[in-house]
Amino acid sequence: MAFMSAQKSRLYLKQMEVGPMENFVYLVGDREKREVFVVDPAWEVDRILSVVAEDGLKVKGALVTHHHFDHTNGLESLLSATDGVAYVQKDEAPFLKQVKSNVKWVESGEKIKIGDVDLTFIHTPGHTPGSQCFLVGDGLISGDTLFIGACGRCDLPGGNASQMFESLNRLAKLDDHTVLYPGHNYAEIPTSTIKQERLSNPYMQFDNVKNFLNLRMKG
Ligand SMILES: [Zn+2]
Repeated sequence: MAFMSAQKSRLYLKQMEVGPMENFVYLVGDREKREVFVVDPAWEVDRILSVVAEDGLKVKGALVTHHHFDHTNGLESLLSATDGVAYVQKDEAPFLKQVKSNVKWVESGEKIKIGDVDLTFIHTPGHTPGSQCFLVGDGLISGDTLFIGACGRCDLPGGNASQMFESLNRLAKLDDHTVLYPGHNYAEIPTSTIKQERLSNPYMQFDNVKNFLNLRMKG
């Protein structure tokens, strides 16, 4: 337990809303070693970098939840400004052609350390083939897979509602107290918990894929 609380107190996690589509960028790092990664750098890279600088941290790279433009349109400028690396789920490779260097392709269950803070990649296909979530401290950064009271669309290229059903079931098994940090500011509140979503999110109420598909594919 001592180890866990030490980890928790080291975790630096900041939510920032950017751009015209209510995207949430997250800064995730180790407040003692002063290292940080940017989740889904987009829209306002200069502002993101100035927040990091104000907090006295150094950007080591980016963590990409999925390839969509509104989550990645600042990826190249962030990587070149910081000489950082980007961690992307390997099934997203066909869709992320614009980034040619400094990408590390990862699989579900892989872990990295940001300073001394552990982060785990969880592959959650459905919104896109290589969508992934990040488990760090007691938080889950969920991109466009799980929203507060909703889930990501499955009707865009590479989307698959059956896979989304499986991914949401997987996330529902996380610890009740896991804090949910979604990829957009679509709800009345900016964060939730897995327990709250499991109880109230309409897309998490199904025990079979057929009923899920009926709701999800309505639009
Ligand atoms: Zn998306």
